[in-house]
Amino acid sequence: MESAGPLKIYFLPFFAQGHQIPLVQLARLIAARGHHVTIVTTPANAQLFQKTIHDDIVSGHHIRVRLIKFPNTHLGLPEGVENLVSATTSATAGKIHMAAHLIQSEVEAALKESPPDVFIPDILFTWSKDLCKSLQIPRLVFNPISIFDVCMIQAIKAHPEAFLSDSGPYQIPGLPHPLTLPVKPSPGFAALTESLLEGEEGSHGVIVNSFAELDAEYTQHYENLTGRKVWHVGPSSLMVEQSVKKPAIVNETRHESLTWLDSKEKDSVLYVCFGSLSLLSDKQLYELATALDASGHSFILVVHRKNKEEEEEEKWLPEGFEEKIGKEKRGMLIRGWAPQPSILSHPAVGGFLTHCGWNAVAEAISAGVPMVTMPGFSDQYYNEKLITEVHGFGVEVGAAEWSISPYEGKKEVVSGERIEEAVKRLMDKGEEGEKIRKKAREMQEKAWRAVGEGGSSHNSLTALLDHLKPLLPK
Ligand code: UDP
Repeated sequence: MESAGPLKIYFLPFFAQGHQIPLVQLARLIAARGHHVTIVTTPANAQLFQKTIHDDIVSGHHIRVRLIKFPNTHLGLPEGVENLVSATTSATAGKIHMAAHLIQSEVEAALKESPPDVFIPDILFTWSKDLCKSLQIPRLVFNPISIFDVCMIQAIKAHPEAFLSDSGPYQIPGLPHPLTLPVKPSPGFAALTESLLEGEEGSHGVIVNSFAELDAEYTQHYENLTGRKVWHVGPSSLMVEQSVKKPAIVNETRHESLTWLDSKEKDSVLYVCFGSLSLLSDKQLYELATALDASGHSFILVVHRKNKEEEEEEKWLPEGFEEKIGKEKRGMLIRGWAPQPSILSHPAVGGFLTHCGWNAVAEAISAGVPMVTMPGFSDQYYNEKLITEVHGFGVEVGAAEWSISPYEGKKEVVSGERIEEAVKRLMDKGEEGEKIRKKAREMQEKAWRAVGEGGSSHNSLTALLDHLKPLLPK
C-alpha cells in the first residue's frame, strides 16, 4: 500500500450497468490496495454486484455496502426496478434518472453518519458538488464515458458551422485528428453533457475507465480546455483480473457459450452484443440476423428482450433461422445476460459487432478483439470514431440516425447488406481484416502493459492514492 494509513472512501455508482460495473471495479481495485471502501447503493443494485465483491471480502479486503432506500413508491415504480437494465421505455428510464436526484438526502445522511476521507460519485450525481462543498468532504468524479468523447462533444459545440448541411458526413474541426460523423448529433445531448461536466468543478479531478496510451492527445486537449486533472484507471476489468486475487473457485459453472466456443477455430467467431440497454427494433434485428447468416461466419448473438410477450413472439427471427444456424453449428443465440468479458477473452472470438458502449470498447481492447461498429445512442457515435478513424482497430457500419435514447428502436434501419459487408471485411481473413486485427492486438499489448506493475494505469492509481494521502485526518 502506498499511503500511510488506509483511506476511507465512499463510492456512489449510478443505476445502470455501464456505470455501475466499472465504478464497482474501481472500488475493488482500491480495496485491494488496503483502503477501506464503502459502496453506497440501493438493495436491487447491490444484488447486481454482490457476488463479485463477495470474493474480495472472503480474501480480507475492506469492502462494504451501505444500503439506502430507492424511492419506488414515490416514483410509481414496481419493487425491484432500480436500474436502467430493467427499463424498457424512456418513461421508466426517466423515473430511474429522477431517483438519482431523490436519493440525495439518504446519501447525505450516510455521509454525515460516518464521514469518509473522500467521496467518489458517478458524474450523473451533479448535486454531489454542492453537498460535498457544504459537508467539506473532498470529491473525485467518475466519468463512465471516454475523454475522447468529451473532446468530440466540446468540438461539436464550438463549431456549429460544420453541421449546416442536411446530410452527412460532417467534418469535425479543432481536434488532434481529422474526424467525420455520418449523422448529425442532437443538440440536446451536448447540452446534457455540458451540465454534467460542470459537476466536475471543485473536484480533485475525473477518473476514467481508460488508459493513457488510448487517448493521450485527447487527454492533453481536455486538460488544457478544462484545467481539470484526468486519472486513467483502466481498463478496469483487466486491472481487476490482474491485481485482485481470487479465492480458489469451487464448482463454478461455465456458461454454455464458452463450451460452444471451445469447438471453434481461433478467431473464427463474431460476438454480437448491443450492451445492457439498447433495444433494437424488430426490423433492425431481422436485418442483423439476415446479415449474420449471409456473412457465412460463425457468431454468438445476444438479444435482450426484457418484455415477456416480446420474448414469446420473437417476431424478428427470420423463418427457420434458429434451426438453420443450430444444424450448421454456426450460430448461438443468448437471450439475456451474456458473460461478455469471458466470451471476448475466448481464443475462438475473432470479432465483436458492438454498439460501442465505452465498457464494451474497453473490454474488447483488453481481449485484443477487433470490432465492427454499429453505435446505438449518445456517446457511442463518438466511440466509433476512436475505434475506426483514430486507431483503425475496427470496421465501421455506422448508424442511419442519431438517437439519445436506447429505447423505442430507431425509425431508420441499417440495412443487412451494410452489416454483412462490414462483417466480411473483418472476418474474411483478407489483407484489410488482418491489418485491423494486428492493430487490435497492438492496442491490447499497450492495455496489458498499462495495467501491469509500473504501467501507466497502475502508476496512475498509485499517484491518485498518493494525491489523496494528505486528506487523511492528522
Ligand atoms: N454486459 C454483459 N452482458 C450482457 C450485456 C452487457 O456482461 O449481456 C456488460 C458489458 O460487459 C459491459 C456493460 O455490461 O461491462 C455494458 O456497458 P457498456 O458501456 O458497454 O454499454 P451500455 O450497456 O451502458 O450501453
